[in-house]
Amino acid sequence: MLPGQMMVRPLAIPDIIDYAAEVHADDGLATAMPDGEVRFITYARSRERIARLASVLLSLGIGPGDRVATLAWNTFRHFEIYYATAGIGAVCHTINPRLPVEQIDYIMRHAGDSLLLFDSDLSHLVASIPLIAEGQIALVELADAGETGETLSYEALLADHEPLETWLPVPETAASGLCYTSGTTGHPKGALYSHRSTVLFALTNIASRISTCPLGGKFMPAVPMFHVNAWGMPYIAPLGGNGLVLPGNRLDGDSLFALMDRERVYCGLGVPTIWHGLLAAMERNGRKPEGLQEIIVGGSAASGKMIASFQEVYGVNVHHAWGMTEMSPTGTTGILKPGERELDDAARDRLQLSQGRRLFGVEMKIAGEDGTDLPKDGQTAGELKVRGNSVIASYFNNESADEAAFDDDGWFRTGDRARIGPDGRLMLVDRIKDLIKSGGEWISSIDMEEAAMRHPQVASCAAIGIADEKWGERPILLVVAQDDATFDMESLRTLLAGSLAKWQMPDEIVLQDSLPMNANGKVSKRELREKFAGRR
Ligand code: AMP
Repeated sequence: MLPGQMMVRPLAIPDIIDYAAEVHADDGLATAMPDGEVRFITYARSRERIARLASVLLSLGIGPGDRVATLAWNTFRHFEIYYATAGIGAVCHTINPRLPVEQIDYIMRHAGDSLLLFDSDLSHLVASIPLIAEGQIALVELADAGETGETLSYEALLADHEPLETWLPVPETAASGLCYTSGTTGHPKGALYSHRSTVLFALTNIASRISTCPLGGKFMPAVPMFHVNAWGMPYIAPLGGNGLVLPGNRLDGDSLFALMDRERVYCGLGVPTIWHGLLAAMERNGRKPEGLQEIIVGGSAASGKMIASFQEVYGVNVHHAWGMTEMSPTGTTGILKPGERELDDAARDRLQLSQGRRLFGVEMKIAGEDGTDLPKDGQTAGELKVRGNSVIASYFNNESADEAAFDDDGWFRTGDRARIGPDGRLMLVDRIKDLIKSGGEWISSIDMEEAAMRHPQVASCAAIGIADEKWGERPILLVVAQDDATFDMESLRTLLAGSLAKWQMPDEIVLQDSLPMNANGKVSKRELREKFAGRR
């Protein structure tokens, strides 16, 4: 081997904002504020504020490796936290405010967070977190001076500190971001991203063309910044010379329509539920938002009906991206090549309903139940496994979860069942586990069953997801009661409401004489899903 003679510079997240501040200085972020105002800030100005925030974090005692939690929507301030934490080698731990408070509490304790920055409209949630009540965590409210009462104000802190002159040097393998998956069996698990994985992720997403957005065009991640870093858009957009339009907490169709229209968004990214809302707003307005060309759908599959409405009625191209929290998250892009756009309807629909081609740097394979590799012929289905520079190598502080998550050769087991075509195209068949995904958020069937079984009159039960046009899936709960005649449905609902968030509650509770069992003596959810398909 003859060593190459090129420089080796660490891949570092702050380089992205440095680059954008210099080369794309006039592009930037437009944020929908809670009062309806849209605030624009250039990447150059944002970089200056990021350097101030880095000084603030250091002054609050945050240093390399420390976890800084956020409970926040998509805003320019959240973007600044991503980069300022990276600039001092700290870790940005984004938390989903829609989780039940006990899970948030668990996640914060597991992560070992030292500081929490939060949006003002989430202050009640913050106050209800037991760990916060214990007073162990410093708090900063993402608001102007004078708006925060006793709590430190983000803007006041920024005004009081000078920008940090140079980012703290950290190795490229240092942790930069932490995001927990929703609990499937047991507690949520943490995916700990690094500078290297994040920069490579952004580069490969651009190189493998996840979008047709031209230089200077704008992306609007409607996917939250607490969901796998809004699919990496806060890194991809500034690196690729694109603006970001951030909807804050206003994710209803009319608010999105108005914002996209005003900002001339080229490409929106989000789960199908969001796009149902936007479609309804488009119907009310009788047109698409000005400038909208492309929608990227991920998290759940978009229906053919939705894709057709966007494309045929409004001329907006829709394509899938598939991925997982553990993959930073994107693994495939469904963007069509020019020739593919010209295919007849049926052939094009098949391509569009698939999850798309793999990105450079993401290797994919499928395996049978005995673990042997299966052919990539587009016909054979198996367990989907992945590996690559932006795929986790292990969960954060969770060795017991690692055992099941990786095969003997170190490939990550996605838990999805899929087919792969000879051209690297992915077609998802099913989720192996029985999670229910509603509006882009997971609902654990096991948690729901666990809660229901606490009711004295419930003999056995099963929670399953039923396809739903608006939410993707909605849960229903099937219950075998001790005695149908005296069964108290209302008290079961009250019991469930005590441990499930409102949106996790089953839409329907249906009494059953018995539940079907499979050969292993487990409830056969497949049979139940077939039986109740189309119930909504
Ligand atoms: P999460 O880690 O919460 O992002 O969830 C990842 C899971 O969502 C994947 O394992 C898939 O089951 C599902 N998923 C993600 N993207 C898609 C897609 N484009 N189509 C269908 N399912 C998807």
